[in-house]
Amino acid sequence: MAEDKCGVAGCDEVAVRSYAREACEQAGLKPENENARRMRLCKEHNKQFKKATKTDRKLETLGR
Ligand SMILES: [Zn+2]
Repeated sequence: MAEDKCGVAGCDEVAVRSYAREACEQAGLKPENENARRMRLCKEHNKQFKKATKTDRKLETLGR
């Protein structure tokens, strides 16, 4: 595991960031290694992750 590869199942891109696996799963990203504590994300999945978490926050605010 020397390379910083994206941890999303089926994705082979170079990772740019890493997050807690749980947070990634909540954002709708499927981890390749479901036992990992952290998950690396490539540029594209990082974008998806941010979008998903932003949407969540928005919905939360609207619900209040
Ligand atoms: Zn990816």
